[in-house]
Amino acid sequence: MQYETIFQEIYRDLQPLEDPGQVADYIPELAHVDPYQFGVHLTTVGGDKFAFGDAEKRFSIQSIAKVFTFVLAYSHVKSNIWERTGLEPAGTPFNSLVQLEYDKGIPRNPFINAGALVVCDILAGELASPKENILSFIRRITGVDSISYNSGVALSEKKTGYRNYALINLMKSFGNIRNDIDSVMDIYFHICSIEMSCKELSKAFLFLANNGIVPHSGEQILSASRTKRTNALMQTCGFYDEAGEFTFKVGLPGKSGVGGGIVAVHPEKYAIAVWSPRLNRKGNSYKGMLFLEEFTSKTRSSIF
Ligand code: GLU
Repeated sequence: MQYETIFQEIYRDLQPLEDPGQVADYIPELAHVDPYQFGVHLTTVGGDKFAFGDAEKRFSIQSIAKVFTFVLAYSHVKSNIWERTGLEPAGTPFNSLVQLEYDKGIPRNPFINAGALVVCDILAGELASPKENILSFIRRITGVDSISYNSGVALSEKKTGYRNYALINLMKSFGNIRNDIDSVMDIYFHICSIEMSCKELSKAFLFLANNGIVPHSGEQILSASRTKRTNALMQTCGFYDEAGEFTFKVGLPGKSGVGGGIVAVHPEKYAIAVWSPRLNRKGNSYKGMLFLEEFTSKTRSSIF
């Protein structure tokens, strides 16, 4: 399949559309990003690569990192994650507090902020050096050693992370946070600040398209069954309160972040990452969603 030609065609078709989205300026460091950048990269399980635009430019992956921390917890730790977080779509914004009170401090799923904070708490309790261990995991699955945190973005988020502090304090009051709040927040703000390109992200997610095995190294990250479950979680919970719409329009499991990135996986075939910084009102990349919708329609490669 000549994916590059298809990328060009879709980009050209989307160009005339006015982009009503806004960059995520609630994290001050992200407000400086040039909103007109656009990149896409697809990597097949067989190792073929297809790129367009700013595919090698790094950006803030934000909530996409929640998949990495979840997988690390799911694959390595002894504690039962499902006693600490649910696995149902939230249907509320990513940083919402309302359900947590009703649900007695148990987040609906690991991909909303509250759930990701619980996962960071689990990693804080079970890994020797969580921040280093998380980075080395991502470096291993991509084969790229220069992937790192952006401490300016982490600090910027720390200074303005009022809702995230509210979430973690509420969960702590219900006994669902075991470690010191500041140490868990430090991990959380850092994972959100990781910078990667579309090329690196599509490579990093390839094990989820390959029954849990990293194609370039042969390392088994998750069993085939846990891989299926992780993809199912991305399908139902990967896009905040727009997971239904993403499933309806794109039809692939995936995860978005407020840096404007989206990664989606076609089991047995490929992982694709797209980046366009302007977000729609739900916090997902406006053009990224449209691009992927056109892509799976033109290539007939939705899983449905
Ligand atoms: N760092 C962001 C926050 O906690 C992540 C949000 C996201 O990408 O969904 O608000």
